[in-house]
Amino acid sequence: MISVHNEPQPTELGDVRMANRAVVLRHVRVHAPCSRADIAAHTGLNKATVSSLVTELIEGRLVRETGLTEHRIGRPATMLVLDGEPYAALGMEIGGDELTVVAIDLAGTRLLTWRRAFAAPAAAPGDTVRALAALARRALNRVTGQGRTVLGLTVGVPGLVDAAGRVELSTALRWRGVDLAGELRAALGDPEYVVGVDNEANLAALAEHRHGAYAGTGHLVHLTGGTGVGAGIICAGRLLRGGRGLAGELGHLPLAAEGPWCACGRSGCVEAWVGLPAVIARVLPDSVADGPVTDFLPELDRVETLARQGDPAVLAQLAGIGRHLGHAVSMVANLVDPEVVVVGGHFATLGAWLLPTARQELADRAVGGCRLAASVLGAQATALGGATAALAAIESGRLPAR
Ligand SMILES: [Zn+2]
Repeated sequence: MISVHNEPQPTELGDVRMANRAVVLRHVRVHAPCSRADIAAHTGLNKATVSSLVTELIEGRLVRETGLTEHRIGRPATMLVLDGEPYAALGMEIGGDELTVVAIDLAGTRLLTWRRAFAAPAAAPGDTVRALAALARRALNRVTGQGRTVLGLTVGVPGLVDAAGRVELSTALRWRGVDLAGELRAALGDPEYVVGVDNEANLAALAEHRHGAYAGTGHLVHLTGGTGVGAGIICAGRLLRGGRGLAGELGHLPLAAEGPWCACGRSGCVEAWVGLPAVIARVLPDSVADGPVTDFLPELDRVETLARQGDPAVLAQLAGIGRHLGHAVSMVANLVDPEVVVVGGHFATLGAWLLPTARQELADRAVGGCRLAASVLGAQATALGGATAALAAIESGRLPAR
């Protein structure tokens, strides 16, 4: 189970029933279809307890019986699965170029994925919140129109976010001290479900851990690629947040004492070497001739096209950027010893040309045998992680209020 900001904590004495409900729900999620007897055998809970917890979960419409039965020594056992019908969880992302919303059901099935172009760095925070709320309302209307109850909404942003969902600093969005959770909650008319905000890398790591090619890996790092570069770190199945929730700010570790200037005001940061603006500036020097680029996605498309065509100058630049990426990955690999580092965003888009040199650099610098892979979740990893995070209260054993 993964800890997120808004996960309800058990009481001091421990709400044993809630914890047991979470155990049963988790077993069904991972092993469905399964029987009550399977759950008892694998969780160590006695059969009467499992039976009573399953009854509660069926009444709460979190779990349902399938028509299937399994015959064991003559006695048929009714099989259980998560009930995908009654609920939805939403995840959103404020990216440099666009807003994204993803909705999933309790079983993790994707209900919708919508993106709209929006240049948040060029907009006032209030305008961004209004655009985000408008997109959220459309998605909420869609899922509630299907008769679903919304369990929660979590937004990912590139920046430092406190436990209350306030964005302390986002150089990518040019925000400082924006109460995003509060403002979005108000814009949505103070809904009953939890509106949360988290760092984009944390949510992307959550998505990788639940839905990616390395789902279930206990020690996993997701490195976001985009205007910002950050690491979401999962250690022993839990998100590593640090004392103030600021862990994983890999983008502003220096790769070298001297280096390109970074948006944070220092020089030589990881972000200044391998962040998307740095990649565009280095691979397509003509693109910055008329001033700073504000719309990066068309430029990224150009880089990808040139790389596919085998442009030797572009391939040489990407190989060099790959070496810096591998250097950055080796720092996190040596610090937290993950089994795999999964890279997203432009690192994944350009993975075919960045990862060969990145893997070589990682092998040269890292002491362990950490793997390096491109994410298969596409541009929606953060929003998908947001939707996953929004299920945390239910997955920790709370029963939904319907
Ligand atoms: Zn920096």
